[in-house]
Amino acid sequence: MKKECQKNFEKISEYLDGELGHDECRQIEQHLNDCPECQGCVDALKKTIDLCRKSAQDKIPEDTRKRLRSKLRDCFNKD
Ligand SMILES: [Zn+2]
Repeated sequence: MKKECQKNFEKISEYLDGELGHDECRQIEQHLNDCPECQGCVDALKKTIDLCRKSAQDKIPEDTRKRLRSKLRDCFNKD
């Protein structure tokens, strides 16, 4: 995993714990545009970003959080 990707992975994890603001969401999104490796995880990442945008109104359901987290882990752990 590249350093930049690692950073994003950590941020997404924080986000899933409800600790991430909109600026960080945008950073993740921007990284996604520039990084083919993370684009490989695009499904999970995109869902995360979508949730990010909605998070002002809605809490993330627990099962969605679990699913995204394990998906991201699978994704970022394979090389
Ligand atoms: Zn990346």
